[in-house]
Amino acid sequence: MRKTLYIISLSTLVFSCTSQKNIKKNTYRPKTPVSQPKTVTNSASQEKIKPQITKESGVEFFTTNIADITKNDNTVSYGSIVSAKPAGYKVVKTHFPAIAQNFRQKYLILHYTVLPDDKSITVLTQQGVSAHYLVNNLGDNEIYQLVDENKRSYHAGVSAWRADKNLNDTSIGIEIVNMGYTANAAGLKTFQPFSDDQIKKVAALAKDIVTRYNIPATNVLAHSDIAPTRKQDPGPLFPWKKLYDEYQIGMWYDEAAKQNLLTLAQTDISTKYNEPSFVYMVQIALQKFGYAIEGSGKWDDATKKTIEALQYHFRPQTYDGIMDAETWAILQALNQKYPTK
Ligand SMILES: [Zn+2]
Repeated sequence: MRKTLYIISLSTLVFSCTSQKNIKKNTYRPKTPVSQPKTVTNSASQEKIKPQITKESGVEFFTTNIADITKNDNTVSYGSIVSAKPAGYKVVKTHFPAIAQNFRQKYLILHYTVLPDDKSITVLTQQGVSAHYLVNNLGDNEIYQLVDENKRSYHAGVSAWRADKNLNDTSIGIEIVNMGYTANAAGLKTFQPFSDDQIKKVAALAKDIVTRYNIPATNVLAHSDIAPTRKQDPGPLFPWKKLYDEYQIGMWYDEAAKQNLLTLAQTDISTKYNEPSFVYMVQIALQKFGYAIEGSGKWDDATKKTIEALQYHFRPQTYDGIMDAETWAILQALNQKYPTK
């Protein structure tokens, strides 16, 4: 009787909810208990997507995804299950997993450590900063996991992208062992390259993570993208284009779109560069793409650093923080291809 009431109230809840976008499209229904044979549906497709639980070393896992991945919905039912164990009661979780759920993990953020291998491990495990994964530079086949993916690691700090803030809450962080940059007296930064081994490791790891959590391309970012006034990592030598071309990870602009925008961008830069209305337009374009930046109408320090972050990621040949015609064309091409929803 209890179960019958539960089923009825669950159905009422599901079908009376006004935000039904995903639920209506999804054919999943909770499995009806054996004691209620009249309402059992026998569709083979429904049986196929019924979440299953397996147990490994005492930890339970859902192993089936009930999400419609084509709708870019990261609602899932796989992954480890953490449950309450209330004294005297049984928590039942096989029959009623809700479709109205999703993963905490919406972003993948890449970093470099500015530390050698041994110190990277010490700092990222023994101090107030961490990351989910650490990619060493030892040429072996190991990737270190430092934090459970279901938990927050402290890698992003004060951060924002599009409508989201404090990305530690919603991201997976990967640290790559790399010494960062040295700067000369004029402030010109020279970055240390990444080894091919590291890039292959990062690509394989990133591919696995974005696939499992269905993380959109717009949410695979550099630390410098989400904290442009504070951070430079993983810097201009991190091969974002290679990841996009060879592994279909993250964003890249269409070359033809950039070329189409270039002539007008050259005119903008040569005729309007110092007009506050043009500077404001650039700032709004940066903001629209995702950067946390205010429209001041001035080429201020925050704007220069944000342009530098954009250049690290998408125009790494020159990263001086100056909005030139190519960077302006690339920014507009990115906004065309990855509009804010
Ligand atoms: Zn970082």
